[in-house]
Amino acid sequence: MYLYNSATHKKEEFKTHIPGRVEMYTCGPTVYHFAHIGNLRSYIMEDVLEKYLRFAGYDVNRVMNITDVGHLSSDADTGEDKMLKGAKRENKTVMDIAKFYTDAFFDDCRKLNIKTPDVVQPATGCIDEYIKIISRLVDTGYAYLAGGNVYFDSSKLERYYIFNDHDEDDLAVGVREGVEEDSNKRNKNDFVLWFTKSKFEDQALKWDSPWGVGYPGWHIECSGISMKYNGEYLDLHCGGVDNAFPHHTNEIAQSESYLGHPWCPQWFHVHHLNDPAGKMSKSKGEFLTVSLLEEKGYDPLAYRWFCLQSHYRKTLVFSWENLDNAAAAYTKLLNRIAALKPEGDVDTAVFDEYRKKFLQQVGNDLNTSMAVTAVFDALKAKTGDATKLAVIGEFDKVLSMSLLEKAAALREKAAQAVQSGGGDYVITGEGDPEIDAKVLARYEAKKAKNFAEADRIRDELKAQGIEVTDVKGGAAWKRV
Ligand code: AMP
Ligand code: ZN
Repeated sequence: MYLYNSATHKKEEFKTHIPGRVEMYTCGPTVYHFAHIGNLRSYIMEDVLEKYLRFAGYDVNRVMNITDVGHLSSDADTGEDKMLKGAKRENKTVMDIAKFYTDAFFDDCRKLNIKTPDVVQPATGCIDEYIKIISRLVDTGYAYLAGGNVYFDSSKLERYYIFNDHDEDDLAVGVREGVEEDSNKRNKNDFVLWFTKSKFEDQALKWDSPWGVGYPGWHIECSGISMKYNGEYLDLHCGGVDNAFPHHTNEIAQSESYLGHPWCPQWFHVHHLNDPAGKMSKSKGEFLTVSLLEEKGYDPLAYRWFCLQSHYRKTLVFSWENLDNAAAAYTKLLNRIAALKPEGDVDTAVFDEYRKKFLQQVGNDLNTSMAVTAVFDALKAKTGDATKLAVIGEFDKVLSMSLLEKAAALREKAAQAVQSGGGDYVITGEGDPEIDAKVLARYEAKKAKNFAEADRIRDELKAQGIEVTDVKGGAAWKRV
C-alpha cells in the first residue's frame, strides 16, 4: 500500500516495524457531547484504512483512547476543561457525562458500520502510565515545574514543527479558540504534562502524583495509552487534521524524548468535513449528528457512502443536496445488487482478478472513490451473478456498506410480496425489488377494490418516473 505520510509530506510505501503486523493508534473522541458527523468522517476513513490493511493481509492491533479528562477548550492548554463544561451544561457529574457520550459515540459507530478498535481505553484509566513518563521527562530535563504544573520544555528538541505543510486554518484551530497566555511557560511551544494548579476550583477528577494532586494534560494520554497497548514502536497514527498541531506534534515530542528513539514513522490525517457555514464544531454547540440524520429519514450508511465517495485528504463540504444524491445512489446500487441471482458457481479466476485490481487501486493512498467505482465495475462484469455477488461481498469487507445483507433483505421482501400476491401475478421490470413490491401493492389494492389506494400507488410510482402497464397475468413496468 502507498499512503501519504504527513510526517514526511510524501506518499510512501507503507511499512511496519514487524513485517505483517500493524500497530495502529487512533485519537478517540472527547466525550463531553455527541460526536458530530465531521468527527465521524475521520472515524469512517480510519475504519476503512484499518479494514483495508486487514484485507491486504496485515494483522492489525488498533488502539484508541477516550478523552474523559484534561482536554481544555483550547488545544494550547487554556480555557475551560471540556468535560467540566459538559457536566455543568447538563447538571451531571463528569463521569456520568463521560459514560453517556462514550455510549452514544459507539452507538453512532455501530450505525455507521465502524468497527470498535481492538483496545479502547478511557484516559482516566491510565494515570500511572502518564506519571511514569512524566517522571522520566522531569528527571532527564525535558520537563520542568512552574507555578504548580509540569511543562514539557520544547527548547530541548532539535525539531518541533513536524507537520508544517497543513493549512494555516487547520493549524490554527486549537490555538484560536480561547487563547490565553500562560506565564509559566518558558517557551511558546511548551505544553502542560500535569496540572496541579487548575484554574477550576471544581475540577472533578484529580489524582495524587509526585508533583501534587492534579490531573494529566491532554497530549500525554495518547502517548501513555499507545505505549501501553502498542508498545514502544508505533507504525501508524491517525486523527483528524486539526489534531496534527499541536496535539500530535506534542505527542511526538514527549514520546521520543521519553523513549530515546523514533516513535511513529507514519501519520494519517483526515481532512475536515465542513458545512457551508464553516467548520463543524462541538464547542460551538450547533452541529449535525447521526441521530439528526436518522430523524430526517436517512439511513446512516448513506452518510458513510457520501464520505467514501471523496478522498480523505480533501476537505469535504456537507450539504443536504449532496447527502440526498449519495442516499439515492446507495439505494439504486442496493437494488441493482438485489436484482442479481444468488445462484451458480463463482468463477475464481474472475474473482481473483477483481480482488487484485481492487487491492491495487484502493491501496493508492486509500482511494475510496475507486473502491466505490469498483463495485459498479463488478456489476458490469462479463461473468455470472454468483461471481459478481462474491466480488461485491469481498469489496464490502473494506467498504462496510452492508451491500449483500441489505440486497438480500430487499430480495426477500420482493419475494414475499410476490408470494402474498397469489403467486401467479407476474411482474416484469428492471428487477428492482422495491418497485416490484409497490407494483404488487397496487395489484392487491385493486383486488381489494381499494381503487383510491391503487391510484395513489400508481401516482407515487409515476412521480418516481415509473410507468406501470397491466398485462395478462400480471404487470410490466419501465422507467420513462
Ligand atoms: P474530538 O472529539 O474533538 O477530540 O475530535 C474527535 C476527532 O474528530 C479528532 O480526530 C478530530 O481531529 C476529528 N475532527 C474534528 N472536527 C472534524 C471535522 N470537522 N471533520 C473531520 N474530522 C474532525
Ligand atoms: Zn491523541
